[in-house]
Amino acid sequence: MPYVGIDLGGTQLRVAVADDRGRLRTVVRHPTEAARGRQHVIKRIVAAVAEALEADGTPAGRVHALGIGLPGPVDPAAGLVISPANLPGFRNVPLNRILTRATGIPSFLHHDAHLAALGEHRRGAARGASELIYVTVSTGIGAGILLRGELYAGAHGIAGEVGHIVVQRDGPLCTCGNRGCLEAIASGTGIARAARESAPRRPGSALHGLLEPHAEDVVRAARAGDELATAILENAGSYLGLAMGTLVNLFNPQLIVLGGSVIKAGHFLLGPMRRSMNDSSWKAARRGLRIVRPALGDDVGLIGAVEFARLQARHARKT
Ligand SMILES: [Zn+2]
Repeated sequence: MPYVGIDLGGTQLRVAVADDRGRLRTVVRHPTEAARGRQHVIKRIVAAVAEALEADGTPAGRVHALGIGLPGPVDPAAGLVISPANLPGFRNVPLNRILTRATGIPSFLHHDAHLAALGEHRRGAARGASELIYVTVSTGIGAGILLRGELYAGAHGIAGEVGHIVVQRDGPLCTCGNRGCLEAIASGTGIARAARESAPRRPGSALHGLLEPHAEDVVRAARAGDELATAILENAGSYLGLAMGTLVNLFNPQLIVLGGSVIKAGHFLLGPMRRSMNDSSWKAARRGLRIVRPALGDDVGLIGAVEFARLQARHARKT
């Protein structure tokens, strides 16, 4: 029997219909239109599910389960969307119940970073690993954790908020309200902020005079040999490594999958990250540790959501 997987981001909504073995068969994509509020977004999800099922030639009544991944914080056990920063109007929304009622398909939500970890574990770069962490560094920084091959979400679904480990006391202000979070320093947003703040004082730098420097501008300038850009990436990499070293000591993983757009900065970021990770973790905790790139590309969220639906359906059959 088929499954439905949904990847709901602040910008894009993707819906897939997958076969019994989890292979994606039909995918539809639409803008989320998050700014238009909760009711509008929920309507769009329900309409996109109907569209995908129709394109696939599958009646809703034949679908086993629906899995949906979305930005945290969410509470998977309670089926609640708590308050994602980029989905305005979603405050304590019982989305499992709403989607189950609207589609007639048993629906299960989870944090998107966790589902990406699950997707890589079941079908991507992390197959066969039982203790693994998937870290994604892009606009924000998040992680999904699998222990003994199973998702670890914590008591209320908040585990894995690596981006909000405080790595610098009194450091830059984070979107969460704290200061010195990893995300405020090493995410794409943090790198852009560092460039914006330091470039005006460095007339010799290629970043000087850029009105709104982006993380990609910093990477491009570093590749061209710009000292300021190189130093910004080195600083970001070094703090990223500090947080990764903490994860390594805490969880002693076999595998870290490191993804997200910022990782494309390559050795400018990854060299300092490695050094700092090694300085801040035990050698014994790193024994046999592999750090790899994700294998699933843009569909990772959809594949993770489908795999989650398959797991939930299996749990339901057992109980
Ligand atoms: Zn924070």
